[in-house]
Amino acid sequence: MRIAVVGTGYVGLVAGTCFAESGNTVTCIDIDQRKIDRLHKGILPIYEPGLDELLKRNVADGRLHFTTNYADCIADAQVIFIAVGTPPGEDGSADLQYVIAAAEEVARNMKSYAVIVDKSTVPVGTADKVRAAVAANTDCEFDIVSNPEFLKEGAAIDDFLKPDRVVIGSSTERAAGIMDELYAPFVRTGNPIIHMDVHSAELTKYAANAMLATRISFMNEIANICMKVGANVDQVRRGIGSDARIGSKFLFAGLGYGGSCFPKDVQAVVRTAQAAGYDFRILQAVEAVNETQKRLLFDMVSDHYAGDLTGKHFAVWGLSFKPNTDDMREAPAIVVIQHLLAAGAKVTAFDPEAIEECKEWHLGDQIKYAKNPMEALDGADGMILVTEWNEFRRPDFDEVKRRMNGKVIFDGRNIYTRKTLEALGFTYYGIGS
Ligand code: NAD
Repeated sequence: MRIAVVGTGYVGLVAGTCFAESGNTVTCIDIDQRKIDRLHKGILPIYEPGLDELLKRNVADGRLHFTTNYADCIADAQVIFIAVGTPPGEDGSADLQYVIAAAEEVARNMKSYAVIVDKSTVPVGTADKVRAAVAANTDCEFDIVSNPEFLKEGAAIDDFLKPDRVVIGSSTERAAGIMDELYAPFVRTGNPIIHMDVHSAELTKYAANAMLATRISFMNEIANICMKVGANVDQVRRGIGSDARIGSKFLFAGLGYGGSCFPKDVQAVVRTAQAAGYDFRILQAVEAVNETQKRLLFDMVSDHYAGDLTGKHFAVWGLSFKPNTDDMREAPAIVVIQHLLAAGAKVTAFDPEAIEECKEWHLGDQIKYAKNPMEALDGADGMILVTEWNEFRRPDFDEVKRRMNGKVIFDGRNIYTRKTLEALGFTYYGIGS
């Protein structure tokens, strides 16, 4: 099939590449000229494991193209995905201006029937707005489909090529059939394509993210109680995770959720509910707990130094909102570091992939950046582990000790063992024990 993907971010670029990998001819469109220029030179705008190789192979084989010009590819596309950003507006509801602008531009360039697919995460009712925007700008026949994306940054290629399920919300058999054909190569292992009405598909994505965010905030509250009553959240986690009704995934306590999805999607569900006259109390609490949790590690640091951090120097390991991505949107590291700086401390940070992102968009030259984890520790009073990249899991603690000035480790992801570190002479702080 000939496919167009509008928006070459984390979702669009992965989706476009994977559709090309399964034999389709794909053109990815973005309004960001710099991004497209770099893609033409083979430079990826994001870090995603496995994407570089897959993308280059499909470009070389002539199945994957990039452009800023809608006219280049919309006219003959049978399926057009809209995968642009849906950031939160001022009141927390999803800002649909990019989705609608993309839909209008698609419509202006259509020449025949196409299936237009909302891939972006959008509130219930958006497909109706997209339908109206398209209808106002073309005489061609078209169908609107909601096909929310469930990939996880850091494992996006695998998630896309072997999805747990594909959700398709459509209102015509014609569109549903085309989507089935397109996704058939991805569900050969028997995982389901779940068809439903458009509104239910739109809500399914939000419900999934809201449920996952709830699990995180719930476990973080259990961790906070653990610290007060002398229990250990890791032991509690193992105890409950073995119950098949609960399951062992997504039960790790830490510094709260971040990233470009959970925070904005939880807010968007709360606003959608409000607009429908419903008070979604659980999700309001989930959000409030997460805000406090992002501050928790800073409070531990501050308490350790009796509230005086002036002139103290901290090594921060990990900047991205989770391992295996360079994405720093809503990353807990930003909150921790901003509090440290405001309290008069100095920070040297290391991250395997997110340093450029941090410099350009988030903290600039307010902090120093190290070339490797050990360099970040030189002369530090304390080490703060924020993101659990694998390379941080087994450092040479003798070298850590030699490099640091103080011997304190604040472990925001519980990747170290208190007993081991205390035996080595460190003071150790973890979450929930
Ligand atoms: P992103 O910010 O990484 O990328 C969006 C891209 O769209 C940008 O490159 C931007 O320049 C481009 N764009 C904006 N307006 C455009 C237009 N009119 N025409 C062409 N390009 C345009 O966003 P993302 O992280 O890929 O997320 C996209 C959507 O997918 C969001 O709704 C998000 O909630 C959802 N989603 C994201 C993830 C994730 O892990 N990132 C997972 C599932 C769903």
